[in-house]
Amino acid sequence: MSSTASLERKQKKSIREISPIDVYKFLPKTNCRECGESNCMAFATRVVNGERVLTDCPPLYTDQYQDALLHLTELLSPPVRTVVFGAGTTGITIGGKYVLQRHEFTYQNPTPIAIDVHDLLPDEELKVRVRQIEQFSYPYIGRKLSLDAIAIRSVSGDRETFRTTVKKTVDSTSLPVILVSLDPAVMEAGLTVAGDRKPLIYAATKDNWNQMAELALTYQCPLVVFAPQNLPLLRSLVRTLLEYGVVDLVLDPGTAADNGLSETIHNFTAIRTAACRYNDDLFGFPLMGVPMTVWNGEEISEDILKWREAVTASMLLTRYADVLIMHSLDGWVLLPQLIWRFNIYTDPRKPISVEAGIREYGKPDRDSPVLVTSNYALTYFTVESDIKAANLDCYLVVIDTGGLSVESAIAGRNLTPDSIVAALKDHNVGSLVSHTTLIIPGLAARISGDTEEASGWSVLVGPKDSSGIPNYLKDRWPVRS
Ligand code: SF4
Repeated sequence: MSSTASLERKQKKSIREISPIDVYKFLPKTNCRECGESNCMAFATRVVNGERVLTDCPPLYTDQYQDALLHLTELLSPPVRTVVFGAGTTGITIGGKYVLQRHEFTYQNPTPIAIDVHDLLPDEELKVRVRQIEQFSYPYIGRKLSLDAIAIRSVSGDRETFRTTVKKTVDSTSLPVILVSLDPAVMEAGLTVAGDRKPLIYAATKDNWNQMAELALTYQCPLVVFAPQNLPLLRSLVRTLLEYGVVDLVLDPGTAADNGLSETIHNFTAIRTAACRYNDDLFGFPLMGVPMTVWNGEEISEDILKWREAVTASMLLTRYADVLIMHSLDGWVLLPQLIWRFNIYTDPRKPISVEAGIREYGKPDRDSPVLVTSNYALTYFTVESDIKAANLDCYLVVIDTGGLSVESAIAGRNLTPDSIVAALKDHNVGSLVSHTTLIIPGLAARISGDTEEASGWSVLVGPKDSSGIPNYLKDRWPVRS
């Protein structure tokens, strides 16, 4: 960015500066509980925490509160606008960011990853690739991580060829699509068969913005603005398109790998800083990163290109891409992105947890061991996977530790002899087995004595790492008196 002096600054409170009172004073204040909260103040508090939205308060949407609603909408609008592409329930919302740093406020709207197909792919290859994109999925601590969209590129430059490929693609998938061509005539051919799917149009440039703007307005689709490595031009195009009446914009400031990666990240950071710190309206739009540009570079081995694509995607996910287009479908390229995205977009204030309770593995009987663990998702799924991998027949008591790991829960007194006793009682564990022996995690060793005393059960200290459970049970179970 050349100078912050050129930013379109305006005074607006950041989300962290908005207090519940700021919201409360515009609510109906009837405490009617239609929102499910005990009163309007409780609702206001949850709104500023990002846990509830205005639409959860039906009375606010009656004529009587029109002005209040307008005020609240303005007050709570994020500095980075939201844009939706895709139709109906499969639509994807991007942007809607309130802050620059994740620790300031939970990031909203995880970055969708689109994989490309193009219009010179033979029919069978197109079909297979679309199926691979749809079926790519990885189970991760109780969630299913998957890909989100398909970017259909015109390589032929031919209208009919592009139209046919777009038609075949949208007929074979319900995933949202991005149409990619800088030629407005080719783009229109694609829109004639996919316009009702509300694709993201890629892209308006300094040379074609007028025709692309017309297409975006005609088909009511969001539009990407592309000005590689030229932020003043990007601003100018955004201003022009807004004046033209196109408001659903996505910004692509250009993605360059290798020597250009530093400038790319700088540009993304400058744009997001301008939006979030200075309320710069012209840069307050979602950002598109295109890691697949690495494939346009020098002729080198495919593995190195894939590695570059993975590195570029990870950096853009961090700084501050709201949507990505990638090419590689290899697990080792995509999984790091999906897991990284999952972590970035998880609320840092809420540990990822699973439901507390009793779980059964294999075919446990009255002589089977009873193990204990915490309800921190990562701990729980690791323990579960070790138990399943060894085909053990056992019970697992999952204690509600507030989503903390065993070690943290012990230190914070979220896992205590009393909480273990309560769980044994709540889940009636004594009725499931004929013994009274409990195996607690090795990291909970220091509460073994007190647990024994409080529960009346014999307490064994298991391994510190759940990978040791199978061997531990082989050596120690059944307990010999
Ligand atoms: Fe207050 Fe609206 Fe909730 Fe009713 S629904 S209690 S008016 S916030």
